[in-house]
Amino acid sequence: MSSPSPRVGFVSLGCPKNLVDSERILTQLRAEGYAISPSYQDADLVVVNTCGFIDAAVEESLDAIGEAIDANGRVVVTGCLGGREADIRAAHPQVLAVTGAHAYQEVMEAVHTHLPPSDDPFTSLVPPQGIRLTPRHYAYLKISEGCNHRCSFCIIPSLRGDLLSRPIGEVVGEAERLVESGVRELLVVSQDTSAYGVDLKYRMDIVNGRPVETRLEALARELGQLPAWTRLHYVYPYPSVDRLIPLMAEGLILPYLDVPLQHGSERILKLMKRPAATEKVLDRIAGWRAICPDITLRSTFIVGFLGETEDDFDELLGFIQEARLDRVGCFAYSAVDGAVANDLPDPVPDEVKQDRLQRFMEIQAEISRDRLAGRVGQEMTVLIDEVHEDHIVARGPGDAPEVDGLVLIEGAWEGVTAGDFMAVQVTGYDEHDLFAEPV
Ligand code: SF4
Repeated sequence: MSSPSPRVGFVSLGCPKNLVDSERILTQLRAEGYAISPSYQDADLVVVNTCGFIDAAVEESLDAIGEAIDANGRVVVTGCLGGREADIRAAHPQVLAVTGAHAYQEVMEAVHTHLPPSDDPFTSLVPPQGIRLTPRHYAYLKISEGCNHRCSFCIIPSLRGDLLSRPIGEVVGEAERLVESGVRELLVVSQDTSAYGVDLKYRMDIVNGRPVETRLEALARELGQLPAWTRLHYVYPYPSVDRLIPLMAEGLILPYLDVPLQHGSERILKLMKRPAATEKVLDRIAGWRAICPDITLRSTFIVGFLGETEDDFDELLGFIQEARLDRVGCFAYSAVDGAVANDLPDPVPDEVKQDRLQRFMEIQAEISRDRLAGRVGQEMTVLIDEVHEDHIVARGPGDAPEVDGLVLIEGAWEGVTAGDFMAVQVTGYDEHDLFAEPV
């Protein structure tokens, strides 16, 4: 008779990139015969995959570790905050082990040490596409780890190291398995998607028997052959990105670009040491729209960075008014422990940051509303996320899950299910979402 499977509880915090790490660790645990426990109490050990990007995330991670210790007592910590072992041990000396970001092997070794696997692994229970934490019809596809940039406010390179791209054959293989298992939308993520393959010198790899360069454009073409949407996140506006836009116009990948711009003033971008700080972003955006008028542009910005003057902020407002981006997130700058930016002079007082944040958001809210209004009357294909008794929740090409808006379809619809595509016509809009009816 087989012994009962040892049970591991799992807590996953932070961004989609961390979620991908969690999925890999969970897949490995299941492959080795561990059972995944939904509660702390029933688990023999708990793994907490942490985030350490901003101070609020550090606190959330330390709280989650504390909660797991109180409820279970046996805790292994991994993820970005794992790079700061001393801080974790100072707050929670009882943790069994601490490993850093994407250290799958070390996490597994820590689990083996503190909770040996049963001698009867249920390897056949692991589906070939692995274990995913996102709904069945969309999945994050991580194409690289780490980052070669050194933005002054960011500590990710010191936590995760330099860029390390996965060979294109491996990425396309994973995408194919995901699509075979029912995934209808692939969300390409990394710290710097445009840089994919730079570290490998765009080395050739084999994809389905053919040699293909490890490069973003080639990856987009390969993913574009699959019967699923491909959506690109974290793309910096380098000239090479221009070559992706015709693929969007052709319908190979979604006409959607998530470009983290962070500011509109070249002076502040240089203080931030941002990649592509001197690219002519407004010209570039105009060029993209000329080739692919339907493109949806998403970005994030920081207001109140160290040294930001009223003139710099005005320049930023001028930038967003001209760029007329569709989806925008904005944050008041908050210092990250260990970031180089902390040594810069002239911090902006909190009330000024908040005032700028509000002014920024008011202007952008109007732009976003106008952009949504422009969609009314358009026909589009949507991907259904949820089917309810009297309405459907879906997303269009311009809506990434979790961060953008929705497309809502009133009424009871038979024979459709989450993960189906549906052709609709847009009939209305509110601040974030569109309303539509099937055509
Ligand atoms: S591009 Fe900049 S902000 Fe993004 S991970 Fe790299 S260093 Fe951090």
